[in-house]
Amino acid sequence: MNARELMQAVAEDRDELLGNFCAMLRISAVGPENGGEGESERAKFLTKLARDLGFKSVDVLESADPRVPSGKRPNIIIKLRGSSDKNLWVVTHMDTVPVGDLSAWKSPPFEPRVEDGKIFARGSEDNGQELIASLYGLKALARNGMTPECNIGLVFVADEEMGNAHGIDFLLQKNIFRKEDLAVVPDHGEKDGSGIVVVEKGIAWIEVEVVGVQTHASTPEKGVNAFEAAARFMLLALERLRKRFIVCDPLFDPPCSTFAPTRCEANGPNINTVPGRQRFAFDFRVLPEYSLDDVMYEVRAAADDIEKSTGARINLKLDQRADAAPRTEANAEIVRRLSAAIQVVRGLKARPRGMGGGTCAAPFRRLGIQAAVWSTSSQTAHDANEYCKLEDVIADAQVYALLFAGKNLDSN
Ligand SMILES: [Zn+2]
Repeated sequence: MNARELMQAVAEDRDELLGNFCAMLRISAVGPENGGEGESERAKFLTKLARDLGFKSVDVLESADPRVPSGKRPNIIIKLRGSSDKNLWVVTHMDTVPVGDLSAWKSPPFEPRVEDGKIFARGSEDNGQELIASLYGLKALARNGMTPECNIGLVFVADEEMGNAHGIDFLLQKNIFRKEDLAVVPDHGEKDGSGIVVVEKGIAWIEVEVVGVQTHASTPEKGVNAFEAAARFMLLALERLRKRFIVCDPLFDPPCSTFAPTRCEANGPNINTVPGRQRFAFDFRVLPEYSLDDVMYEVRAAADDIEKSTGARINLKLDQRADAAPRTEANAEIVRRLSAAIQVVRGLKARPRGMGGGTCAAPFRRLGIQAAVWSTSSQTAHDANEYCKLEDVIADAQVYALLFAGKNLDSN
């Protein structure tokens, strides 16, 4: 088969894919933290579907979770042998966020509505679209007796929306993945399907508490103004951080590390009191070149200086810390192969890029695996009236099919 024939094979499955996609979306897969029963029912449907589609190697790995009626959070792995020893994984998730405000939905979120080529349902885009696309991309090879270039593993995980403990982290502990492997984690995407995320910034959220001495506002010299000390500290810290951590990387938008003061809490109800306590927060997004320890050190040093000059005490608390995972190089094998498939299907040049927040590719990158975050996304994840476009599902399935087939495609 050549690329055109394989893409045609995917396109011919359009109606069948849509039918099974909608059947899957009808089965709720909300986690117990959000009042759901987990992914068991949806996993049963998908396991049967994979077997009905002819896949012989369909395994379910279950993580025990007493919070759901089945007591288990299932993870499905569908494998198809390739002509080389290399493994290529596509990791998507079965679970969804809850519906949110039901009155904002134009149709019931678990009764998929197809209108103007769009499929409206909770979980249609996040992450059902890529799950079903990867499945039908692989099916097109299997049905036509075509061997993938690498061993392909489709992984449908549980528990992505609420922390990954029963999904990706559970599987990582099972040592299924090897550092020589390649992975696509369609955790994010752009509308035209051109962006491939290969690197993320590290994240630090810092809560700041400045303690001074409260007094009457007509005699401020009798107290220590916590608000003023907080303002001085904020500006000094930002000035030093922005001077020291200056490396920019054009893969990111914005290209540099960002240091933003964010939440500021009320310090008292009235105007005529000098506040004795001021709380605010910082949100830092830091390029992977830098250690968050060094960032924290700089912030503490600024706090020490302001403590000396004002007499206030400054307490810093790290509310959240996520060190950046090592980057996947922009010309890594997985990026090159995915870009080539996107070029054929979409006729556009894929663009490696960085992201300011974490993605589910990070744990794979920490293992040393080349991981690309890619999909074509309507960017309605978690919204009311979430949707995906059927055209995007088919095109992404074609991209997966070409990516899987790789060198085994006929060149004519
Ligand atoms: Zn999500």
